[in-house]
Amino acid sequence: THFGFQTVKESLKAGKVAEVFSSVASSYDVMNDAMSFGIHRLWKDHFVRSLNPGRKSGGSPMAILDVAGGTGDIAFRMLDHADKINGDRETTVICADINADMLKEGEKRAQQQGYISTNRISFRVENAETLDSIPDNSVDLYTISFGIRNVTRIPMALKAAHRVLKPGGVFACLEFSKVSPAPLDAIYQQYSFSIIPLMGQLIAGDRDSYQYLVESIKKFPTQQEFAVMIKEAGFMNVGKGYEELTFGVASIWKGVKP
Ligand code: SAM
Repeated sequence: THFGFQTVKESLKAGKVAEVFSSVASSYDVMNDAMSFGIHRLWKDHFVRSLNPGRKSGGSPMAILDVAGGTGDIAFRMLDHADKINGDRETTVICADINADMLKEGEKRAQQQGYISTNRISFRVENAETLDSIPDNSVDLYTISFGIRNVTRIPMALKAAHRVLKPGGVFACLEFSKVSPAPLDAIYQQYSFSIIPLMGQLIAGDRDSYQYLVESIKKFPTQQEFAVMIKEAGFMNVGKGYEELTFGVASIWKGVKP
């Protein structure tokens, strides 16, 4: 892409997110590993383990919706966990994303992993703000991983999550957050604003998209503020509302639809 600085700023409000992710889709998985030194895998593993997806003894299979699912990192982990930990091969995941190019990478992976023929995973172009094709009260577990900060109107996405979840259903979000203590944050800011765009340039040939990603992290609300937004959308916060990972580089928020 050829985002000038102006356009990068624009993209934050105008929903040009789609273009950013089209341009990073093919290098997305490699870049994630490079930028986070592979730690995003540990966060995602922890996120999925903490949700323990799949049928519990005597229960039914789950209907999971992974929003901003991209190339399927969370969706595949959900299915693996349901199968290996809960012996459940019936739980299904819809991987929904606004960007067809990201989903295409996910579909390739589903093909490689033999999931495509099982009907356990499907890929759907959907905007998190509306989730048009997802019926009310139809989802047991809604996940969104490193996606919510890209959504233009976050309260609308939270409302849509609330609409599609069944009563008792769980909303779970994994996202970058604020680092503490302050000296560590200073190092982190230095790293993210200088090294990540450079890595984007060297590895993916795309500095501007990664500059945008770093800026979007900075703009996202604090852990506490986002917990309040989740509550305002009608959820009951789980515990204090969030769990910090790696000094707050990322956090997990959970809510239950009453
Ligand atoms: N969930 C995956 C993961 O954890 O690796 C992908 C995260 S990727 C950083 C962010 C994704 O959010 C992109 O695939 C992008 O297309 C998607 N996205 C951005 N805005 C969206 C929206 N309004 N609705 C649905 N998906 C959106």
